[in-house]
Amino acid sequence: MNKEKHLVVISGPSGSGKDTVVKRLMELHPEVELSISATTREIRPGEKDGVNYVFLSREEFERRIKADEILEYAEYCGNYYGTPKSEVDKRIENGITVILVIEVVGAGNVKRIYPDATTIFVRPPSYSELEDRLRGRGTESEEEIQKRLARAVEEMEYAVDYDEVVINDKIDDCAKEIYELIQKHQQD
Ligand code: 5GP
Repeated sequence: MNKEKHLVVISGPSGSGKDTVVKRLMELHPEVELSISATTREIRPGEKDGVNYVFLSREEFERRIKADEILEYAEYCGNYYGTPKSEVDKRIENGITVILVIEVVGAGNVKRIYPDATTIFVRPPSYSELEDRLRGRGTESEEEIQKRLARAVEEMEYAVDYDEVVINDKIDDCAKEIYELIQKHQQD
């Protein structure tokens, strides 16, 4: 199989519940692996360096971009987020399905580099549900929430560029649907 088909890109606005769905998908299918991104944003309570993200200074992130160690990156609400090449290349060559959970600009860049990657956009059932989820997790300041809500509206317009769009109404159903779509694309 074309190695690019092992790459799966999942996006969705902040509050769409995409991280929870992907977590569930990986509990159901442990053979699927998640790429750990690098970021310059501040670590949140409960997060671990090297587990949720690799947390870097802006200087170090920019050094890695120059050293060509980053496959794709984007700025999101004032911080850098990027996929280290080391998270992807070897694994897809070895036939492992790797999931990138990344925002829309980075997703577009991945699709240009790997046109056969599968891209899936996760929509929340409604805007008010998205706002409730974003507030409910209580990890961001009001200013940060406002920025993310504004960005969510813009991001929703990118859904048309994705191979597939799913609605995250129920976590288990959505995780199952995403897995089936990955299988379908790998067989095409
Ligand atoms: P958060 O701060 O909520 O963890 O992430 C903010 C946004 O950055 C989310 O949409 C998340 O999917 C995205 N993101 C996380 N890692 C990467 C990455 O490596 N590259 C890009 N382009 N976006 C990322």
